Amino acid sequence: MIVGILGGGQLGRMLAMAGYPLGLRFRTLDPSAGAPAGHLTEQYVDDFTDTEALSRFAVGLDLVTYEFENVPVDSAKFLQRRVAVYPPPGALETSQDRLVEKSFFQRLGIPTPPFVRVDSWNDLENAIASIGLPALLKTRRFGYDGKGQYVLETEEDAVLAWQTLGGVPLIFENKIGFEREVSILAARSTTGETRCYPLIENHHEKGMLRLSLAPAPNLSEALQKPAEAYATRVLDELHYAGILAIEFFVLDGKLYANEMAPRVHNSGHWTIEGAQTSQFENHLRAISGMPLGTTDMKGCAAMVNIIGTLPDRRAVLSLPDAHLHLYGKAPRPNRKLGHITLSCASVEARHNQLGQLQKLIEFQLS
Ligand code: AMP
Repeated sequence: MIVGILGGGQLGRMLAMAGYPLGLRFRTLDPSAGAPAGHLTEQYVDDFTDTEALSRFAVGLDLVTYEFENVPVDSAKFLQRRVAVYPPPGALETSQDRLVEKSFFQRLGIPTPPFVRVDSWNDLENAIASIGLPALLKTRRFGYDGKGQYVLETEEDAVLAWQTLGGVPLIFENKIGFEREVSILAARSTTGETRCYPLIENHHEKGMLRLSLAPAPNLSEALQKPAEAYATRVLDELHYAGILAIEFFVLDGKLYANEMAPRVHNSGHWTIEGAQTSQFENHLRAISGMPLGTTDMKGCAAMVNIIGTLPDRRAVLSLPDAHLHLYGKAPRPNRKLGHITLSCASVEARHNQLGQLQKLIEFQLS
């Protein structure tokens, strides 16, 4: 079976690495010749919007998936007329627009921060009056890793943000004074079988994911159960196949959905060593209709992203529970170059080794 992957980044690379033992083969499409998955897969270097290139790409494929959520929906639909595409393009459509996405959550009874659409300065003034400050003003489309958004504490901030962002469709959201940020990863197969991983606690620096702890510390059924119920609702509504990630804020023990990603997710990289079945393997099992693997943890895990500069490999590997994953990318500021997973038998061992890791990579342990 040959699986086509739209996007040739590290997520595509890790999908391929998980899929070879299952007897799958891979072809990736990415506009960049040096994309990380290209080293390991049959590589097509073309634009996502070039329909002739898409037709060439589709020849001989059994399935298409994507590892990049800004794949043009029209391209996914174009391919769908030739070969099965999972997750369904409708999931892409929903997640690419923050307003559509939050309205979708709302329709399914999944709590979100209060939000309102902003298309004009007048809308922004009304939003401040109705929802209040502090708030976030975000572009509806093409925002990632905290880009395309401003925190508004005062009305002056709103003027400055409007000068930069005004002119494109926006969303205004109440700023949630969250206690922590968590994510759930859930898999649904083409047969409807569904499994969820334990909630993960995520820490960001400069808008980028830096550290994930799995399971989220002090995780209770009171948090895990609603997260699973919300994820299942989204999966069923979208007739989904594959891995879906939903990010939440936690405030007063309640979950508020921020966004979802219809793909394997950075906060789930620890599953490669830390879970019985990795998110990458379960994504492939799900889209090809194979039974899903159990999502139980082997112990506890932490994942630290390597951003901008490479750490000393020997020093990282001297930590007994560390697993190093480098994506084959050249170092550049704010670029995700790899990650390190600590897969540990105990929370104490994880804490000790995270402390050691902090001497090698500068990250906050809050
Ligand atoms: P996003 O691009 O929506 O994932 O936002 C990036 C980060 O900004 C999130 O991980 C949060 O730390 C913060 N953030 C986004 N939206 C809100 C909100 N409504 N309230 C509080 N913090 C937020």
